[in-house]
Amino acid sequence: MTVTTLERPSSSEATLTAADRCDQCSARARVRVTLKSGGQLFFCAHHAAKHLTAIYSKASHILDERHFLLDD
Ligand SMILES: [Zn+2]
Repeated sequence: MTVTTLERPSSSEATLTAADRCDQCSARARVRVTLKSGGQLFFCAHHAAKHLTAIYSKASHILDERHFLLDD
């Protein structure tokens, strides 16, 4: 598996695209969680709100783009 770390600290562009889908419901993903174990999880805004607090302790990085909720 290839691990790619892409940091855009002050970006105004969304990293997640329409091709990224929520693992729970297949809606467009707005949050990407990189796990300490190396895997990645994708959540829509709804499921991010539901699951994110439980996942914080397992995450090494969380990309939160819920502020880009403009084009659905
Ligand atoms: Zn979802």
